[in-house]
Amino acid sequence: MIDFSAYIRTIADYPKAGIQFRDITTLLNDAQAFNAAIDTLALHYADIALDQVVAIEARGFIIGAALASKLGLGFVPVRKVGKLPADTLKQTYALEYGEDTLEVHQDALAAGARVLLVDDLIATGGTALAAISLIRQLGAEVRHAAFVIDLPDLGGVQHLQANGVQPFALCQFE
Ligand code: 5GP
Repeated sequence: MIDFSAYIRTIADYPKAGIQFRDITTLLNDAQAFNAAIDTLALHYADIALDQVVAIEARGFIIGAALASKLGLGFVPVRKVGKLPADTLKQTYALEYGEDTLEVHQDALAAGARVLLVDDLIATGGTALAAISLIRQLGAEVRHAAFVIDLPDLGGVQHLQANGVQPFALCQFE
């Protein structure tokens, strides 16, 4: 596998002091690296039976939509509160400071559908677990989650595994 971390830019002190932000826009802006990222994810899931891709706003949409198209699957957006027009299911989750809410259209997932969850990065896993909760509340099944970046020090992978979801990431940053 190519070293995807080499295409990701690190911005110090964004969005606040002390945070090292991993910026995937540099990977997206490199045609070969972006294509290789989607191809690598598609190959990883080629032999796994899946029905739909669910991705998390906003950077997850970029990866998730390209991957869904490549895998020949439908795409379902999980959005921040207030953005989806039809009836939604909501899930609130804790952030480092405060909380946030994700939403999904109530009619977006078929009961029993096998879902691949996609986001750009997994840190604590809190965001992914909120999306997993929404998917399961709608009666769909989620056993796999794909990310561009894993921050292993924050334990998100273990959190997902403890909840029956196997994560796969293209690269890690310690
Ligand atoms: P978690 O909920 O796993 O702690 O955080 C993951 C979420 O935060 C993802 O939706 C991701 O987009 C966002 N996030 C947190 N830190 C970063 C970062 O350094 N780079 C990027 N691209 N996203 C981040």
